[in-house]
Amino acid sequence: MVTRLPDGKSAQPPPAGTADGPADAYMLCMSHLVCPRCGATNRLPAERPALKARCGQCRQPLFDGQPAATTAALFDKHLKNDEIPLLVDAWAAWCGPCRAMAPQFALAAGRLEPAVRLLKLDTEAEPALAARYQIRSIPTLLLFQGGRLLAQQAGAMDAGRIEAWARQQLGR
Ligand SMILES: [Zn+2]
Repeated sequence: MVTRLPDGKSAQPPPAGTADGPADAYMLCMSHLVCPRCGATNRLPAERPALKARCGQCRQPLFDGQPAATTAALFDKHLKNDEIPLLVDAWAAWCGPCRAMAPQFALAAGRLEPAVRLLKLDTEAEPALAARYQIRSIPTLLLFQGGRLLAQQAGAMDAGRIEAWARQQLGR
């Protein structure tokens, strides 16, 4: 159930004779989703609805319609192993516009998941992660795809604009 791929992206068929051997074509239809709670990489058959799936390691839902708070350690697992794009809200408790945007970001999670993983980065709790992406003003949205930063946008947005911005950047 819980499998860590060597490089996170290329679902290479296993050598013949392993437990997964006969299912080469089936393997290519798997989604690789990182659990936002424990960081385990879950391999999910494409036909299984991701919104209803639970993590094979911690048994929590992989998606619950809410953005998940992340840490530097968990975020790096998402970055390395998640197959879906990541949309990160960099915020802090003292920031009024951040608090105002929080319910809008949560609404956007309901619209974008499970195609995109929405995460909350508390810049006070994880200053090193905030520094890595040179976040100078909050709220800032960061969009990652394939392990790389695709786009970054400062300033509060409502749910419709968050969704539209993410879809525009991702070309979908
Ligand atoms: Zn988990």
